[in-house]
Amino acid sequence: MQLAAELFQAKRIVFLTGAGVSTPSGIPDYRSKGGLYDNDQQRPEYLLSHTCLVHQPEKFYQFVVQQMYYPAALPNIIHQKMAWFTKNKAAIIITQNVDGLHMKAKAQNVIEFHGSLYRVYCQKCGQKVAYQQYLKSMIHQGCGGILRPAIVLYEEQIDPKIINASLMAISQADLIVVCGTSLQVYPFAGLLTAADPTAKIIAINREKLVLPANAQQIVADAASTFAAVKV
Ligand SMILES: [Zn+2]
Repeated sequence: MQLAAELFQAKRIVFLTGAGVSTPSGIPDYRSKGGLYDNDQQRPEYLLSHTCLVHQPEKFYQFVVQQMYYPAALPNIIHQKMAWFTKNKAAIIITQNVDGLHMKAKAQNVIEFHGSLYRVYCQKCGQKVAYQQYLKSMIHQGCGGILRPAIVLYEEQIDPKIINASLMAISQADLIVVCGTSLQVYPFAGLLTAADPTAKIIAINREKLVLPANAQQIVADAASTFAAVKV
């Protein structure tokens, strides 16, 4: 199956992307480090939780700044090709990634399902602050409040507007391309259930996934798969 042919034939495309799209840009998947922790409070599921942010803000800050931010990372061929489709066809990107790389690739119509590390605000006064300030200190100079990135933490709810916009886009798509995600994180993983039964679903992943029966799988490296799509 030729991905390029499917992409050019489709009328409305949705790209669903996850961590695997950013690994070629040098951003490791923090979830893939699982299983090697001495205790639960060292697990990313705790360090990226609302509880940790509230009760151990220094610990939260340290993890996020040291493990999550890659401000020098650049979009790769996958981001670039998807961006092209958002500009030249009716295509929407819904991403689990919080690294801002689809935006850096100047894609249009991006839904950052879990928010972005590059939007930071003060929890006390609500003011927006440049992420560079946050990388220097978690304290808001203006009011002494604690800053945080606008990402959805464990135990936090996704904005219903984001969910609704995503479900709408999926339900209207005739081609859904799942890339770099094993679709294990809910509610993101549940988005596919909104797909029209006639829509084509193509998953590009290094490992085979559990997907609806009508989905086609390309078990391959996503970067080389997208590099082969000539635009
Ligand atoms: Zn403040």
